[in-house]
Amino acid sequence: MPRQNHKLLIISLKNFKHALKLKAIIPTDFEEDSDNMLEDLSVHIMGYSYDREWREDPNAAPIDTEVNMKRNQYHADIVVVLTGREYNVLGRIYGVAGLVDYHNTYQPELGFCIVDVRGALGRRKTFIHEVGHLLGLYHDDQENRYGKGYFFEAGGLFGKKDRITIMHKIGDLRRRIKHFSNPDVEFKDEPTGTGSPGAIGERNSARKLRESGCIVAGFRQDPGPSFSVSMDFTPCCSFFVSPGDIRTYIVHGSHGQMPYQYEWKVSNDGFNYGSVLSTTNKLTYDYHSSQEGDILFIKVEGISADGQTDQIVFPQEVFSF
Ligand SMILES: [Zn+2]
Repeated sequence: MPRQNHKLLIISLKNFKHALKLKAIIPTDFEEDSDNMLEDLSVHIMGYSYDREWREDPNAAPIDTEVNMKRNQYHADIVVVLTGREYNVLGRIYGVAGLVDYHNTYQPELGFCIVDVRGALGRRKTFIHEVGHLLGLYHDDQENRYGKGYFFEAGGLFGKKDRITIMHKIGDLRRRIKHFSNPDVEFKDEPTGTGSPGAIGERNSARKLRESGCIVAGFRQDPGPSFSVSMDFTPCCSFFVSPGDIRTYIVHGSHGQMPYQYEWKVSNDGFNYGSVLSTTNKLTYDYHSSQEGDILFIKVEGISADGQTDQIVFPQEVFSF
């Protein structure tokens, strides 16, 4: 049966001083291709062939997939792809994440996960669970890792209940509480983590998050401010000119990649502009043929070497003092 093209969302998160910052929510053409979420993650998002060799060779250049390209476009450190209704998740997994391991290697190319919206929130909280994996966290049964989930009991003397933290594997229908494991934080009078720092079997996702945050924040660099054109003076303060005046206007570009290019044009109505009068950052304009009452619109368009554009338009009214 052909699969329908559902409306899917891609969410990019930007790590910013140990807080996750949402960069963009954008549609994607990604389709659930198989019932195997992990295969779709590796083949159709990360761009690796699904023979598991990519795990052994993290330097292998991935194919540019659409999701990959959008991640780079938005400078997102990690990406969550939200899927709709195609995966048969009942009794199965609700999300998969790149197996990012910050103990040994630096693997920004694995910073992707898929989360089925049916398990994203609620008792499973799969959204934050998968993001936890992208930040280097592990399940309870993975040994010698301190960034693990924690299974514990809490709830008073006679009402103790099993509690599982965000990174606990949810093989059954237990409800994940809204906590990563952390020996210093309690839930119903019981600590949500265990073990002293560095001890084998330590369950302390919080410590791991503090350490991996700055690593993940470096996966993609912020693009910085965009190219802009500004003038030496505020045009409204020099709104009037007199017939016969000769005025020189100067602009400066900032940010973006140098060198900058400019085009100056003049219009009588603000819509139709004449030919290019200058291609430098300076225009000297002679008002000798202008009449009192004329309004001229001066426009300068700038473009940076990396293709960013900006422009300024300002009016000049001809007036005899
Ligand atoms: Zn997991």
